Amino acid sequence: MHLPSPMIQSESKEQMVNLFDLDRKGLQQWFADQGEKPFRADQIMKWVYHRGITDFAAMTDLSKSLREKLQSLATLTPPEILSEQRSSDGTVKWLIGFGGKNAVETVFIPEPKRGTLCVSSQVGCVLNCRFCSTGTQGFSRNLSTAEIIGQVWLAAQALGHNLSDNRQITNVVMMGMGEPLLNLDSVAPALSLMRDDLAFGLASKRVTVSTAGLVPGIDKLRETVDVALAVSLHAPDDKTRTEIVPLNKKYPIDVLLESCRRYLAGKHKARVTFEYTMLDGVNDSLEQARLLAKRLANVPAKVNLIPFNPFPGADYKCSSGNRIRAFQEVLMQAGLVATVRKTRGQDIDAACGQLVGQVMDRSRRQREFKAKLASLPEVSNVA
Ligand code: SAH
Repeated sequence: MHLPSPMIQSESKEQMVNLFDLDRKGLQQWFADQGEKPFRADQIMKWVYHRGITDFAAMTDLSKSLREKLQSLATLTPPEILSEQRSSDGTVKWLIGFGGKNAVETVFIPEPKRGTLCVSSQVGCVLNCRFCSTGTQGFSRNLSTAEIIGQVWLAAQALGHNLSDNRQITNVVMMGMGEPLLNLDSVAPALSLMRDDLAFGLASKRVTVSTAGLVPGIDKLRETVDVALAVSLHAPDDKTRTEIVPLNKKYPIDVLLESCRRYLAGKHKARVTFEYTMLDGVNDSLEQARLLAKRLANVPAKVNLIPFNPFPGADYKCSSGNRIRAFQEVLMQAGLVATVRKTRGQDIDAACGQLVGQVMDRSRRQREFKAKLASLPEVSNVA
C-alpha cells in the first residue's frame, strides 16, 4: 500500500479547518458551505464541549458518510499540555504548547464556591507594563481561537469538568499572558464559545476580559460579545500611569474611563472591575487612594487591589499589608467596592504577572507588532 509521505500528510492537514477555530455561527456557516444542514454545528459542539470527544468516528449521531466527509475536510486539534504544576494551595498551572516551540501558561484557581480559569491570549505581550513579567519576555505571536478555547477545553478535560455534575470551571478570566484586545479577532469567537450553552455555558458576568486600556478594543468588544470588563488601571494620575503602563500615553485615564462608561451603557447592574497592583512607594499613597476614588466617582466600578507579585529582575516591591488595608479603607470610605486579591499559586509562579511560558522568535515579531500598535487610532476625550 502506498502511504503519503509525512511531508504531504502535514501539508494537507494544514489546509484542513480546525473546528476548534469556529464558534457556533462559524460552524453553522462552515457546514452550510459544505452543503450540510447548519444544525450539524449543534451536534458537533455537544460532542466536543459537553462530552470531550474529538474523534469524528465516535460521533454516532452523524451519518457514516458525514463522519467520513468530516475526516477528510476538518480536524479537531486542541493544543497540547506540555507540563502541569500543582501548588500547595490547590492552584494548577499548565504549560500549553502548539506544536512549535512557543507555549503559554494557563492557571486554574479553585475556591470554595467557584473555580476560575485564567487564560492566555498571546505568546508574550507587546505592552511592556513595567511590573509584569510577561512583558519582559517580549512578544512572539497572537494565539488562534483554537489555541484560546483549547486552553479551556484542555483544563476541563484535566479537571474532569462536566456540565451536568462536576462544574469545576465556573469563571474564565482573560488575565493570562497577552493583551486580549490586541487579538480580538481570535479572542471574540473563543469568548462566544465560553458563553454558549452548547459549549461552556458561562453567564456574561463569569467571563471577564482584562485589558491594559486599549480604548478602540473596549468599544469593539462591546459590539461583539457580552462579557464582563476588567481594566488594569494601576494609578489615578497620568504621570504615574504612563510610567508603569506605557499604553497610557496613547489612551490616557480620562479617555479610558469614558470608554468604560460607554461599555457599561445599557448594561443592567454591570460594573467595570479596575485592577490596581500595589507597588510600594509608586502608586500606594493615601493621597493616590483619594484621587482614585474621585476619578471613579462616576463610573460604576469595583476596585480589585492586587498585591504585587515579584519575579526575577523586577524593579518593584509590594506595598505592605498595612498600606494595602489603609488604601482599601480610603476607597471604601468613599463608597467604592474595593477588594484585595488573594495571592494564589505563588510557589509555582502562577500568580498575577508571573506567567512567562515560552516566548520564541520574539524580537522580529515584536518590531512588527509595535508598528501595528503605533498605527492604532488616537482617541480624543469626548466627555
Ligand atoms: N493584558 C491584560 C491581561 C493580563 S494581566 C491586562 O493588562 O489587563 C492580568 C493582571 O495582572 C493585570 O491587571 C496586570 O496588570 C496584573 N499584573 C501584571 N503583573 C503583575 C505582578 N507582577 N503582580 C501583580 N499583578 C500583576
